[in-house]
Amino acid sequence: MSSRRPAFACTACGATHSKWSGRCDACGAWNSIVEEAGLAEGPSGRSLGPARGRRIALGDLADAEPPLPRALSGIAELDRVLGGGIVPGSAILVGGDPGIGKSTLLLQAAAAFARLGASAVYISGEEATAQVRLRAARLGLSDAPLRLAAETNLRDILTTLEAERPALAVIDSIQTMWSDHVDSAPGSVSQVRASAQELVTFAKRRGTAIVLVGHVTKDGQIAGPRVVEHMVDTVLYFEGERGHQFRILRAVKNRFGPADEIGVFEMTGTGLAEVQNPSALFLSERHAETSGSVVFAGIEGTRPLLVEIQALVAPAAPGSARRTVVGWDGGRLATVLAVLESRCGIAFGPSDVYLNVAGGLRITEPAADLAVAAALVSARQDIALPRDAVVFGEISLSGALRPAVQADARLREAAKLGFTAAFIPSGGPAPAANDLAIHPVADLAAFMDKCFGKIDR
Ligand SMILES: [Zn+2]
Repeated sequence: MSSRRPAFACTACGATHSKWSGRCDACGAWNSIVEEAGLAEGPSGRSLGPARGRRIALGDLADAEPPLPRALSGIAELDRVLGGGIVPGSAILVGGDPGIGKSTLLLQAAAAFARLGASAVYISGEEATAQVRLRAARLGLSDAPLRLAAETNLRDILTTLEAERPALAVIDSIQTMWSDHVDSAPGSVSQVRASAQELVTFAKRRGTAIVLVGHVTKDGQIAGPRVVEHMVDTVLYFEGERGHQFRILRAVKNRFGPADEIGVFEMTGTGLAEVQNPSALFLSERHAETSGSVVFAGIEGTRPLLVEIQALVAPAAPGSARRTVVGWDGGRLATVLAVLESRCGIAFGPSDVYLNVAGGLRITEPAADLAVAAALVSARQDIALPRDAVVFGEISLSGALRPAVQADARLREAAKLGFTAAFIPSGGPAPAANDLAIHPVADLAAFMDKCFGKIDR
């Protein structure tokens, strides 16, 4: 058995291939495969041999574990996404589109961390120190005891970190790092992986928390953050739509806390500000009672969040009906449209359908189904739902509605923001008493009758 060296790698997902092709089998990306030198060899085929190792001490499931030590970053929204602060020795990847505000957020976090008395180092491979200092001055951070350098040579960076032993080191970005034992250009899959591996190993060995910044790349020439996701403890993505001032920090993987937790920030003149009440922010663009607009009472991570779902149904040119979705899953939209047609007789066939989650948020919860269906039919009929009502519930293929998890938390958030009514699936546990008028509905057809009366089908 010969272990052939794979000579090609996908810059989107990191899969290795023995030959070039236009499309990556592993992730489906087009034009993402590039030639790579110096990829690590696979298993050699030899066994471990007879030399004995150390005997491992086995424990019981009930043995008490001390709580993880954590250090607060000084930014509450970041700490909640991390699961309660930074775990020493952990490796954290922060990915996002270029220019979305990753460097600003991490400069603010590292400065806040340093101000709390912990030693923190910020290494920029993207910008000169003068540029970073200018940004720090603009953000009002110049007095923070944060140490700074502009460097891309990994060997020099590791030597420096070894001598300084900071509690936190930010590497901005992993794609600019260059390790002299790997024979390929910075930003290639093998360089990005090798550099991340060295930094993660350093984090574990010395107890320094390492934050790697990774740009989500579109051109396929530079490896994206996905190629190192499996090496780190925590993966955060910083999301937002250009033109919106909101930014969402989302945990997609977290060994030390819940995944799917989100933190909400607002881009301001003096940097990213934490948003204490995201529901109020996401509903702030809502005006008069309009058809096609429905408020979904959702849960993101551990936090209830109200968001507006907007739908528009417009006549289409013959034979070219479009389905356009922003912030939700296109396949899920097709399912909801199919259930509306088959179970309720409400067809959208010849019309263009546009669906939008307001504020640039991305929703993945199935509990949004009913709010989406309500927005679609509201837009089709040009009948507005009551402005002070929230909606949630999952739709099954039979048209039945399934209760959503954490109904009480959703209803409490709605009551807190001044809503007075809620349409929810029947059959779940009775909600705790609050000021909302609750309208339980068993299936989608009953919901449509209740909200929109007789619909021409
Ligand atoms: Zn791929």
